[in-house]
Amino acid sequence: MTSREDCLARDQADPLACLRGLFDLPDGTLYLDGNSLGVLPKATAARVQEVVRHEWGVDLIKSWNSAGWMDLPRRVGDKIAQLIGAGPGEVVVADSTSVNLYKVLMAAARLQQERSHERRVIVSERSNFPTDLYIAQGVCEPLGWELRLLDAHELEAGFAPDTAILLLTHVNYRTGRMHDMAHLTRLAHECGALAVWDLAHSAGAVPVDLTACEADYAVGCGYKYLNGGPGAPAFVWAHPRHADRFAQPLSGWLGHVAPFEFSPHYTPAPGIARYLCGTPPVLSLAALECGVDTVLAAEPHGGLSALRAKSLALSELFVQLVDTRCAGHGLTVVSPRDAGRRGSQVCLSRAEGGYAVVQALIARGVIGDFRAGDSRTPDILRFGLTPLYTRYVDVWDAVEHLRQVLQDGEWQRPEFHRRQAVT
Ligand SMILES: *Cc1c(COP(=O)(O)O)cnc(C)c1O
Repeated sequence: MTSREDCLARDQADPLACLRGLFDLPDGTLYLDGNSLGVLPKATAARVQEVVRHEWGVDLIKSWNSAGWMDLPRRVGDKIAQLIGAGPGEVVVADSTSVNLYKVLMAAARLQQERSHERRVIVSERSNFPTDLYIAQGVCEPLGWELRLLDAHELEAGFAPDTAILLLTHVNYRTGRMHDMAHLTRLAHECGALAVWDLAHSAGAVPVDLTACEADYAVGCGYKYLNGGPGAPAFVWAHPRHADRFAQPLSGWLGHVAPFEFSPHYTPAPGIARYLCGTPPVLSLAALECGVDTVLAAEPHGGLSALRAKSLALSELFVQLVDTRCAGHGLTVVSPRDAGRRGSQVCLSRAEGGYAVVQALIARGVIGDFRAGDSRTPDILRFGLTPLYTRYVDVWDAVEHLRQVLQDGEWQRPEFHRRQAVT
């Protein structure tokens, strides 16, 4: 049986342990929610301060040129590209994940409409993140298209001659289940559909190779595993074979080929730059760049494959400790036990009191989160295991807190049952 000392020894031997020093982790907090909001990098406050005080405060509008503000969406995009198997010049940072999803779904829909009017269905997963489904509904409605929702196990056989677009989130936000991107993209292409991937729970946590998978479009989130800060802007990628053929539905001036010619007519910029819409959020981009740099800092230590190996080791340990030390407390592991199909989080369910158990853990400084179920899916207790800053001993301690919360009935206290606005 694994002991706390074993975990401390694993931390001692961990080649990625030094990366934790890049983060400002508050004392007394055991943070297992990096899949929702990544931790503050140490570099961020000083960098944002520099941008505010010097680039904005002193150089003012000159900074669009002198401080490279105008290039930020592409510069940070190039850094993110390295994490998702995209080439330089293929990714930009702009807007939110929701907005970028709208852009790429509209782009894909236009391409399909040029080919055939028989294809008018977007296939997605019933348990996809709600904003993805809402945006897809918003795309389908004016086109007279249909959004067809399937369960994960129905996807492989779910393509039909009317399928225009497959829209999936690579790692499911509730269960942590990871799709086989290469395989599903191939199936989509075989039936003539385009594949759009949401990398919100993948970028910076699991290796992704958009180019090798031949994916068509991708979007992803800046504030989760990329540590960009609350509401950080998101990223967007189009396969180069589509990049110049895309009519940007949000045809803003910064996606124009020459914004400062102030032409009355919209001509899109070549390539991915046309996915920009309005003025870039410079302060947020500066913070996001610091966050992306923390992931790139793993490069000399084995990069994303080393991060992936550690993430799986952390989640294996979590599952093993829950199985052994919390046995008999009604917990079920909802995430796939097969490591190859699991993202960087472990999700548990419990027939009763899931919300209160998470609240009791938070009161002890162990931060996970809760996602309510419905008639088809259970309530979920969610624990993100971010390999950049989570230690093996943190996993041991978190499960020990969980054991105590359940064993002593601490979760039954009334204060843990009051609902907060954000769960
Ligand atoms: C977090 C997340 C989003 C977030 O979208 P915003 O536009 O940033 O609010 C979108 N999709 C998925 C799958 C996510 O996990």
